[in-house]
Amino acid sequence: MSKLEDSVRNFLQRQKAEPAPVQKEDTCSHMALAQDVEPSADGCEDCLKTGDKWVHLRICLVCGHVGCCDNSKNKHATKHFHETGHPIIRSFEPGENWRWCYEDQKLMM
Ligand SMILES: [Zn+2]
Ligand SMILES: [Zn+2]
Ligand SMILES: [Zn+2]
Repeated sequence: MSKLEDSVRNFLQRQKAEPAPVQKEDTCSHMALAQDVEPSADGCEDCLKTGDKWVHLRICLVCGHVGCCDNSKNKHATKHFHETGHPIIRSFEPGENWRWCYEDQKLMM
């Protein structure tokens, strides 16, 4: 399992056990790149092209590219980071609003 998916799982488990107050200082320098983006597709853009399936969706906060998570076969969200250098993603799953910085390997709320 990748560090990203591991961090998310740990966070969600921790939150269930003891709901923590929102930590506003949870940010990094790359958050300045994050925009109010329009999703590029309703599902993983690249999986839709090839007819593949995904597990969870992530959205790039720099350009709006929707890609699949590291538990998915194609890991398109992470691939998008390696191809473009866009470091910030957000969960595209209903009810989840965590963000992840690839550069800092950091999960933010
Ligand atoms: Zn960062
Ligand atoms: Zn995909
Ligand atoms: Zn992007």
